[in-house]
Amino acid sequence: MKALINGKILLKDGIWEDKGLLIDEKIRGICDKKDLYKENAEEIIDVKGCYISPGFIDIHIHGSGGSDTMDGTVEALKMISNTILVNGTTGFLPTTMTMDMPVIHKALEAVKKATTMEWSGAKILGVHMEGPFINKKFKGAQREDYIIKPNYEFIKDYVDIIKIITMAPEIEGSRAFIESVKKRSNAVLSIGHSNATYEEAMEAIEAGISHSTHLFNAMTPLQHRNPGVVGAVFNSNITCELIADKIHVHPELFKFILKVKGQDRLALITDAMRAGCMKEGMYELGGQPVLVKEGKAQLEDGSLAGSILTLNQAVKNFVEITKAPLYEVINLVSLNPARIIGIEGEKGSIEVGKDADIIVFDENIEMKMVFVEGCRRLGDK
Ligand SMILES: [Zn+2]
Repeated sequence: MKALINGKILLKDGIWEDKGLLIDEKIRGICDKKDLYKENAEEIIDVKGCYISPGFIDIHIHGSGGSDTMDGTVEALKMISNTILVNGTTGFLPTTMTMDMPVIHKALEAVKKATTMEWSGAKILGVHMEGPFINKKFKGAQREDYIIKPNYEFIKDYVDIIKIITMAPEIEGSRAFIESVKKRSNAVLSIGHSNATYEEAMEAIEAGISHSTHLFNAMTPLQHRNPGVVGAVFNSNITCELIADKIHVHPELFKFILKVKGQDRLALITDAMRAGCMKEGMYELGGQPVLVKEGKAQLEDGSLAGSILTLNQAVKNFVEITKAPLYEVINLVSLNPARIIGIEGEKGSIEVGKDADIIVFDENIEMKMVFVEGCRRLGDK
């Protein structure tokens, strides 16, 4: 067992100081410093006043470090996983794009294979399928020529790894698809890249949609006589994602979203593409050229094409803008995403019995140490 001492422990409802955190592959306990000697810890790790936090979980990320989920290889997934670990992400959903069916299947196969392998980076927790069942009108950076009608047959061999499916529920065949998914899998259905009216969105939520993909981006906006998908997200209990890079959504809306959706129904995501953690320049996303310049990733027509955000930066941005306490913002990148994909019993917060996905960071949310299921993956011994 290891004991992390001299840190500020970020719990889901507050911060504890002057305690020791005991971990092996699981979180074993929190004890007073004076009682540490009773606990037989083999290794005492002094974190020197830094924060001790649950690891971040990114439920929407395409790529990083020059690699993309759609490369369809285990090597690409490894690269993404090792790069995002450095910024505190200990678990993630590699996210597919709208492409030709065999290309998506190849990417899903690679994820399946990767989840059975020895792994040193952030853990793959499943897949987020973004498309191809979306609306051409709100395709964003997705390729229009590969958009198809929803079809359960298309995903049936992968329901064990698919955790989230982004879809436009106004598209023909959606109702039957939603029913099949609800009946035969645990995948979370998310409204996104959608041209639905407010009424269509509310009906879809009634039918089983429980999440929304990058709120405000690629969906019908909120207008006073036409509340759209955004209005439906605000007027229902579904959860939502936010790309908190201050580019995809105006930062002054962060407070508003938090106020309306509450602390339990919002997850910060990166939606990062392969240029994440890389130099600016020309890249590719979903088969299209992307220029990354001044912190923005854009297609030739100017559409935003994912981001180069990291989750620690998202936390920083969100704290700076909303002035919410740090432990509350940490829940938006740990507990909430874990809850959304149904793994809050194992991950997402510092609680006894959960996996020891623990990160140690300073006042600037820069990582000093990262532990995935108790193994130290970043930070010198
Ligand atoms: Zn995306």
